[in-house]
Amino acid sequence: MFQKKRMKTFSNKYFSFKIFLTIILIFTGLFSFKLNLPLNIASKDKTHNDKYKNNSVLIDSNDKPYVSPSQYKIDILHYFLNIALFPNDKLLKGDVVITGILLDKNLHQIELNFYDNMKISKLLLNNVQTKYNESGTKLTIFLNNAVKDTFNVRVIYQGTPKFMGFSSFVFGRRNGQFCVFNLNEPNYASTWFPCNDIPSDKATYDIKITNDSSQVSASNGKLISIETDSTRRTYYWRTRYPTSTYLVCLYSSNYVQFSDKYISLDKKDTMSVEYYVFPDQLEEAKVDFKEIPEMISFFAKKFGEYPFIKEKYGVAEFLWQMGAMESQTLIGIGSNFVTGKDMFTDIYSHELAHHWFGDAVGPETWKDIWLNEGFASYCEALYAEYKGGEGALRSAMMNKFHENFNNTLYNPGNNLFGTTVYDKGAWVLHMLRHQVGDSVFFSILRNYYNKFKFKNASTKEFEEVCEAVSGEDLSQFFNQWIFYGTGILKLKYRWATKQENNNYKLIVNINQTQEEYKTYKFPLDIEINFENKTKIIKSFFINKNQTEIEINFNEKPINIILDPDNWLLASLEQVK
Ligand SMILES: [Zn+2]
Repeated sequence: MFQKKRMKTFSNKYFSFKIFLTIILIFTGLFSFKLNLPLNIASKDKTHNDKYKNNSVLIDSNDKPYVSPSQYKIDILHYFLNIALFPNDKLLKGDVVITGILLDKNLHQIELNFYDNMKISKLLLNNVQTKYNESGTKLTIFLNNAVKDTFNVRVIYQGTPKFMGFSSFVFGRRNGQFCVFNLNEPNYASTWFPCNDIPSDKATYDIKITNDSSQVSASNGKLISIETDSTRRTYYWRTRYPTSTYLVCLYSSNYVQFSDKYISLDKKDTMSVEYYVFPDQLEEAKVDFKEIPEMISFFAKKFGEYPFIKEKYGVAEFLWQMGAMESQTLIGIGSNFVTGKDMFTDIYSHELAHHWFGDAVGPETWKDIWLNEGFASYCEALYAEYKGGEGALRSAMMNKFHENFNNTLYNPGNNLFGTTVYDKGAWVLHMLRHQVGDSVFFSILRNYYNKFKFKNASTKEFEEVCEAVSGEDLSQFFNQWIFYGTGILKLKYRWATKQENNNYKLIVNINQTQEEYKTYKFPLDIEINFENKTKIIKSFFINKNQTEIEINFNEKPINIILDPDNWLLASLEQVK
């Protein structure tokens, strides 16, 4: 998910300022001068998520756990969703067949998630009517002895889905036209269909959407058929790729459709790239979406082939005006981010990158959400680097720099979509890249993607890949930046020179002053500028709270710059 609200208008201004400054500095040959400046004017992180604080992923509105232990004892293989929409009445009628297996043969009941305001008219277990209970967000189906292994639950229901979280399921209107859409993340799929709403229980889907024949309906995977019956039209979509419930999507509006294509790296597949846009924004969309096949190609070369190559990639406009959502093979994008001016490349690259990190490789639990959002945020910076070089990478990263980050990166509590998860998450990958070097870093990402593609990964499993590929013990790195440390690194430093004949001794004292996690261990670059206008960058590995570095030179040092290339999530303050 991408929320534009996370960004501050200040950041955007600063972004242009920074590009302008970079250009000026390159031309004046004072490239190194721009160093710590961003740290001084970096703004304070605002908690912007308070509105959503009560929507815990663990607790439902009745203070009951959203997911119960028995939900981990079943494995859903397939959902057949047959959804009829009646936007005038904000009514949804569902006929859903869920096929799954019991992982524990001693289960007496199957528990699923489903909001109890949706009224069930019929429920069949293996084609026989059976006892069930709807309460809060839980649908409990009592097993009879007939169920040994595979089960088949058919639920026929109707209602108006409850509005939850950021957007959930919405019967909206735009310029007098209907637009029905959804945003399931993290746990609102169950507002509109019964499901085992755990990110790690992936399944395949058949999805039929029926609406007024004037409406175009789109969803995950490939379009199988369109059937029109007097005033109603049914779009039948199917995906054979494992899909998490929170990535299932439904969009229905008076869309106009256009398409593009992406050719796989091995040239064997030509994949359709499909766009569903509001008619009045067709020209703007054609401008803004033009770069998408190039983006797919960029990420495919970086991480491995686009994961859903046999089906599609697509973009549908929706009415959530705060950002975009990475629904698998068909992202939703707020219509205000389609301008025809190429203004929101960061959002487009973010949602696309989620198809590798978030969709194909899913999070094991919501505690691992940074594996989605930190990765997609770093991918924005990688795409910026590809388009604009090293300066653009640095600008993108400085745009994500804040002095204050709340919570740990792993298990951020209720702040699933806060700046820590997105921006600090991106910074942690940036620092990992500096610590292990470019070739090892990208090899880590390729291995991680390859190993967990179409499955789920935990933060610990990502750490294991990092260690296996780099051959390094990275536990300190993961502990300080991901599992235990909060906030950022704070360094105070001073320096002095001593002259002995023609020899100059440079002495640098560095103190770590952050309170949350006492001693970080990290690589630190120091640029030393000399009186004869030459400069040198030396690298050190800092592993103590207080460090003194001594270096001898034949030339007189006149200035030093810590972390000249902005690799560290650190505030740097020179003291006397
Ligand atoms: Zn995201």
